[in-house]
Amino acid sequence: SFQAQRRPSLLMGATGGKIPLGLKRKGLRVVVTGGAGFVGSQLVDRLMVRGDTVIVVDNFFTGRKENVMHHFGSPNFELIRHDVVEPILLEVDQIYHLACPASPVHYKFNPVKTIKTNVVGTLNMLGLAKRVGARCLLTSTSEVYGDPLQHPQVETYWGNVNPIGVRSCYDEGKRTAETLTMDYHRGANVEVRIARIFNTYGPRMCIDDGRVVSNFVAQALRKEPLTVYGDGKQTRSFQFVSDLVEGLMRLMEGEHVGPFNLGNPGEFTMLELAKVVQETIDPNANIAFRPNTEDDPHKRKPDITKAKELLGWEPKVSLRQGLPLMVKDFRQRVFGDQKEGSS
Ligand code: NAD
Ligand code: UDP
Ligand code: UDP
Repeated sequence: SFQAQRRPSLLMGATGGKIPLGLKRKGLRVVVTGGAGFVGSQLVDRLMVRGDTVIVVDNFFTGRKENVMHHFGSPNFELIRHDVVEPILLEVDQIYHLACPASPVHYKFNPVKTIKTNVVGTLNMLGLAKRVGARCLLTSTSEVYGDPLQHPQVETYWGNVNPIGVRSCYDEGKRTAETLTMDYHRGANVEVRIARIFNTYGPRMCIDDGRVVSNFVAQALRKEPLTVYGDGKQTRSFQFVSDLVEGLMRLMEGEHVGPFNLGNPGEFTMLELAKVVQETIDPNANIAFRPNTEDDPHKRKPDITKAKELLGWEPKVSLRQGLPLMVKDFRQRVFGDQKEGSS
């Protein structure tokens, strides 16, 4: 029964979790909040392959049933339409807490809901973890560094965040979520993990979520100009989703709380990114400059020394390798072939 399944993970925590990823250990019950979204659904695929029982909790704000539909009918899979702002009772061993709109367009759409999701949603997941003795992994973000004054960003950097700006619902929300996570860890002995995720792209991203990689790829495919905001000299570091999923699982299985930066240190200006998209999809794609959004961070690049040392993790897929994999998925979705939503 459930108790019998739960014990191994607790013991693993106590004994240092030395079991290699994807091997031996089977039959954990894992909840993935936001599991119908872009990153969450890719994570669910890996957990299902490993033999876990996976419960996806999602309110479908930005997630899509199509992202997990291929698991319908599996006795190891369950999809619950639920908003994490409301309490929920589940019996599980691990919680991957991803539920939260991630693109600026979506998280600014209803900022109060965004901060509630980050604060109350995370509180509920930590309360759940406390009640059942589960391990809870929070997907935080590089946005906790704000418009960083240190470059690249190391986990010990406290950040430079505007507390009253249009992005605050997200960055301050995630910062509070990190605080709650550490307070449950220190105060209630909950096993926790914190990942600070840097810009991630790949198959199953929302086509119209306004993030730069999805915008450029969809625009190039639709023969529309690539919209570069501001002067295009701001930088981001783009990580392919499979690298992130590997990092999240290593973090969950490992012995270290974090926070850990999970990102690809390959740094690009938006103009350089536009060039890579042109090379990959359409060399004749035009560029159109647009005014930038408020409080846009000027640069961002992870220092991943800590994850390399303690998790044995580093990204494997470069932007030039990963982009074509995303383009294949976007091509199918942009041109209306609904049969295949993934790579
Ligand atoms: P996404 O929008 O594709 O997925 C988020 C999922 O959460 C969606 O399925 C959505 O429906 C669900 N959701 C949102 N609010 C909810 C609520 N109140 N209750 C239940 N479900 C809810 O975004 P993603 O890129 O897959 O991001 C996943 C997580 O990773 C987020 O927490 C995000 O902050 C974090 N993250 C992502 C990136 C990135 O570049 N993709 C970078 C940093 C952090
Ligand atoms: N919670 C939940 N599922 C559970 C246990 C708790 O959703 O299985 C919620 C609970 O409703 C509360 C939050 O998690 O809003 C924090 O729970 P905790 O027990 O830490 O605090 P308390 O309920 O004492 O405020
Ligand atoms: N951006 C852009 N064109 C777009 C969308 C975004 O030039 O069509 C820029 C945006 O101003 C920012 C960068 O790309 O500097 C990354 O934006 P995104 O929304 O993808 O992620 P985040 O700001 O959260 O890193």
